[in-house]
Amino acid sequence: MEKPAPTTYAHDKDVHPSKLNWGETDPCVRGPVIIGRDALSINIRNAIGAYGGPYSIYRGLAVAMGDLSHNHRPNFENTQPPIEIKQQPQWSDPSKIVALDPFGHLTNEYFKKEIDEGLDIRPTIAITRAHMLVPEIQEEIRTGGIAVDGKVVVNETGELNVHKGAIDPVWYLPGVAARLKVDEDFLRRSLFENSGGMYPELITRPDLKVFLPPIGGASVYIFGNHELLSDPDVRLTVRVHDECNGSDVFGSDICTCRPYLIFGMKEAIKEAQNGGVGLIIYFRKEGRALGEVTKYLVYNARKREGDSAAKYFARTENVAGVKDMRFQALMPDILHWLGVTKIDRFTSMSNMKHDALVDAGIKVLERVPIPDELVPPDSKVEMEAKVAAGYYTNGHVPCPTELSRTVGRGWDEFHH
Ligand SMILES: [Zn+2]
Repeated sequence: MEKPAPTTYAHDKDVHPSKLNWGETDPCVRGPVIIGRDALSINIRNAIGAYGGPYSIYRGLAVAMGDLSHNHRPNFENTQPPIEIKQQPQWSDPSKIVALDPFGHLTNEYFKKEIDEGLDIRPTIAITRAHMLVPEIQEEIRTGGIAVDGKVVVNETGELNVHKGAIDPVWYLPGVAARLKVDEDFLRRSLFENSGGMYPELITRPDLKVFLPPIGGASVYIFGNHELLSDPDVRLTVRVHDECNGSDVFGSDICTCRPYLIFGMKEAIKEAQNGGVGLIIYFRKEGRALGEVTKYLVYNARKREGDSAAKYFARTENVAGVKDMRFQALMPDILHWLGVTKIDRFTSMSNMKHDALVDAGIKVLERVPIPDELVPPDSKVEMEAKVAAGYYTNGHVPCPTELSRTVGRGWDEFHH
C-alpha cells in the first residue's frame, strides 16, 4: 500500500479547492463535490469527510485487509436512475437544500468529463424501482381493504409497485449552521470534537464548506406517479418515519413505530390508487438519533423504576441528556428536492416534524394520527407522553394526573 495521503492541512499551500458554488442552477457552474484523497483529488478537494457515510469505515477495513484496491474506481455503467427526478427551483435555493446534494443522482451525467479524467466523483443518491411484499398489506388486500388495481397493487399476491431512492447526507455547513441557528465555526468545532477529532479540516480548512458526515442517510419510497409529486393540484400523502429497528423489523410492542409505518404505507397506496401520490421517507435516526444502545438503557430504566407516561421523557433525558436529537430542521430538504410544496395528508403526530415542514414553507393540510386500534397496549405510555408533550391528536390531551395513571408493564409481568 502507498503511504496514506496527508490531511490537506499538512500541505496547505498546495491545496486549491475546486470551485463549488452551492445553490447554483447549472450543475456545471455549481461544480462537483470532490472528496477523494487520491493523488488527483487531494489538492483540489472541496469537501470534508468520505463517500458512503458510516460505510467508509468498512471500506477502510477492506483496503487494510487487501480485499479492495485503494485506487479502485467504480464502474457506473447502467447504474443511472430508471426515472427522471426533474430539476426543481428548490435545487437552486441555498436556503432550501443544505443537507443533500440535489445533483447527487446525476454526477455521472454532469461530471462525466471529470470522472473520465480520473477524478473519483461518486453519486450520493441512487434511485431504482422494485416490487414489495408486506404481510400486513397483503392481509389488507386479502380482506378487501385495499383493491388490486394492477398498477400500484400489481396482483392478488399483494405485490406493490414502487420507486425508491437512497440519499446520503451532504451538508453545506454554512446552510446547516443557519438552519440550526448556530455559528458555523462553533458548529464545526462541535462536530470535530464529538467525532473524536476525526475530521481536522472542520477546523483547519474553513474554506471547505461541504461535509459528508459519517451518519446514515434516508430512503424514499414513492407510490404512484413520481412526476406528480411537485404538482400542487395533485393530492399527496406523506409519512416521514425515523428508524426504530426494534419495532420496524423485530415487532417490539413498546412503541407504535411499525404499526404507524405500515398505516402510512396503506394510506400512501390508497392515495396513489385515487390518482394522487404516496410518499414514505425513512430516516436512519435510530432511537430519536440517540442510538439503540441508549434506547435500550432507557427501556431498562423505565421498566425498573415503574414505567409511566408522566416520567417517559425524563427517563430519556436522565440517560441521554436530551429527549431527542433528530434535528427535524434538516428533514424537509428531501421534500424540497422532490419539489413538494404541500402535503394533503401527513401521517404523523410529531409536532417537531410538522413544525419543521411549516418552517420550510411546505403546507400541511391534514395531520393523520395513528388509529387507536393500531396502538399496542404496552406503547400507551409512549403515546400519552408524546401527546401531552405536544404531539398532534384529534382526541383527548391527557392531564398530569392521567399521565401518572398510564403505566406500562414492569419486568415482573414479562414471560421468561
Ligand atoms: Zn419505536
